[in-house]
Amino acid sequence: MTIANIIKKIKPSATLALGSKVKQLKSEGKNVIGFGAGEPDFDTPEAIKASAIESLKSGFTKYTPTSGIPELKEAICEKLSRENNINYSPQQILASCGAKQVIFNCLQALCNDGDEVLIPSPYWLSYPEQVTFARGKSVFIESSDENDFKITKSDIERSITEKTKVLIINSPSNPTGSLYTKEELYEIVQPAVSAGLYIISDEIYEKIIYDGEKHVSPASFGQEFFEKLITVNGFSKAYSMTGWRIGYAAGPLDIIKAATLVQDHSTSGPNSFTQKAAITALQGEEKTITDMVKEFDKRRKYIVERLNNIDGITCMLPKGAFYVFPNISGLYNRDICGQKVTNSVDLANLILDKAKTAFVPGVCFGSDLHLRISYATSMENIVEGMNRLEKLLNEGVLYED
Ligand code: PMP
Ligand code: GLU
Repeated sequence: MTIANIIKKIKPSATLALGSKVKQLKSEGKNVIGFGAGEPDFDTPEAIKASAIESLKSGFTKYTPTSGIPELKEAICEKLSRENNINYSPQQILASCGAKQVIFNCLQALCNDGDEVLIPSPYWLSYPEQVTFARGKSVFIESSDENDFKITKSDIERSITEKTKVLIINSPSNPTGSLYTKEELYEIVQPAVSAGLYIISDEIYEKIIYDGEKHVSPASFGQEFFEKLITVNGFSKAYSMTGWRIGYAAGPLDIIKAATLVQDHSTSGPNSFTQKAAITALQGEEKTITDMVKEFDKRRKYIVERLNNIDGITCMLPKGAFYVFPNISGLYNRDICGQKVTNSVDLANLILDKAKTAFVPGVCFGSDLHLRISYATSMENIVEGMNRLEKLLNEGVLYED
């Protein structure tokens, strides 16, 4: 086998794979309901599309500077100052083909062989793979539903060794929907800053928050935090722009420069007209976002209630993002249509097979006791999916197409 050793260690993205599988089953005429994709089911707002069309028509179709066009970087700085209370200069911004790429570039820029990267678990499944690509070592910090999937100051303190280089935080979280308060965030970031770690704060779900709660960027906690924080964000979730591929990082100049080098020789600057559209997104009104969040909120409450009505499932009400992460361990070793399951992969497969409903196994995010359900799908799909699940698990009734 001639494939590089590092590649042999990498797992495919289960979220992307499930999304493709559901599309494939649907194209074969199967009546499958997909709860896999972490992708808003809303269209990109018209004004954003119009701006891309306008920029295409005006011939804005060439390479751009690797780190992004100056107008976009300025608009990002204004946004970060206005909404997040952090003052970056345009040289401290790197715009990339999505938040995924920008995190990848930053990890490449930060990790030496064997450097440890702390990742609170459950985690978004691309983090550990990206750490592996960067020759680093993922160190997971466990959390559970009992504490709303939040880690604490002492968890951080006991995880730091002389090899620890980076901490990744993601609030609101994919996959749990958990949101740290300002105080809780301070408690976990402060010991990491004191120990000299860099912190990648993935804030891509910052605008999808419920119950009047507020998002806080840890880079705003003070100068010593600002110097260690890499604030990551993107347009995929808040502006329903998953296919446009645009995201950004803001952070210390040397790290942004190094991460830009990675981009220089891999993808170059992000798509030209997407950058113009991103400026429109940042400067536009927020009504489409607040309307979308209202709709997500209805779905969130509905799905949590339905899940908690199923014997063997318990589900916390998350404060952010568009995922629920129910505990399904109460179903293990039970007879479900003549089968017994003892892990999240087998349960997700059984549900897909018998109820034609697709969830992502929790083990892909670091917990085999859970399933991840994205409610970024229509209420109609959610009602039907929950009916199928309830019938299967409470009554043993299969879904017949
Ligand atoms: N971070 C988190 C936590 C995510 O869920 C995602 C999923 N899209 C990303 C980053 C990457 O987003 P994108 O590359 O589409 O900007
Ligand atoms: N982040 C989304 C998810 O977790 C989209 C897919 C991906 O990039 O992993 O489903």
